[in-house]
Amino acid sequence: RPVTSETLEARGLSRAFAGVQAVADVSFDVPAGRITGLIGPNGAGKSTLVNLITGQYSADAGTAEIDGTSLTGLPRHRIIKYRVARSFQNLRLFSGLTAFENVLVAALAAGFSRKDANAIALRELDAFDLRDIAAMRAENLPYGARKRLEIARALAQDPAILLLDEPAAGMNPAETDDLADRLIRIREDRNIGILLIDHDLRFVNRLCSHIIVMNRGQKIAEGTPEEVRADPHVIEAYIGR
Ligand code: ADP
Ligand code: MG
Repeated sequence: RPVTSETLEARGLSRAFAGVQAVADVSFDVPAGRITGLIGPNGAGKSTLVNLITGQYSADAGTAEIDGTSLTGLPRHRIIKYRVARSFQNLRLFSGLTAFENVLVAALAAGFSRKDANAIALRELDAFDLRDIAAMRAENLPYGARKRLEIARALAQDPAILLLDEPAAGMNPAETDDLADRLIRIREDRNIGILLIDHDLRFVNRLCSHIIVMNRGQKIAEGTPEEVRADPHVIEAYIGR
């Protein structure tokens, strides 16, 4: 595996869809050992930004770099090798496979041997309290467990940088608090850099010391929770809808 620096550096990322500027010249860092929040109203461009970084969409301009290597334009299997992993807003589990198999497949896709992938799968199932239901097919799991499984799959790729697109969406408050505890533990134990997209400001404020705010494709603010909450652009973006 290539050695990676711990910071993902996005610079000037832009993407338009048929006249809609979904992401406009956005730059930010995701450093190791920190959970960086990415918030903004619906349609702000948050998911598109992650899709540009992980190669689901091609960028019109800009780069995402890790260890001086540009990820933009690389095929997705190469991006895994640079230890950048993500979860999807709309779950992408293999519904007919068990929870265990879903995590195992992710570790195998990241290039681990069958033996290592097996150990990693068990570790991630434990980290997300899925061990007892490891043999259940994904389609039969309760919604909260499926959301946790999606994150476990991303972590099974052993990322240095983890991009989470609304991991708490649809969870109840108890499930959300539980997920926050697990993410804090993962950040502390593994020192990875996490970019956390969410609508739930309470959730983001609890986890993130640094928050990026987008609106209509643009980064409109960045700073501590206190700074962004007091920012007039942020207040306008949230209240002006
Ligand atoms: P967010 O995740 O912040 O809610 P998105 O990144 O999903 O926002 O969307 C940003 C904008 O880009 C929206 O106007 C959305 O309709 C548009 N968009 C996103 N993906 C596509 C696509 N594949 N085709 C056309 N428009 C898209
Ligand atoms: Mg989105």
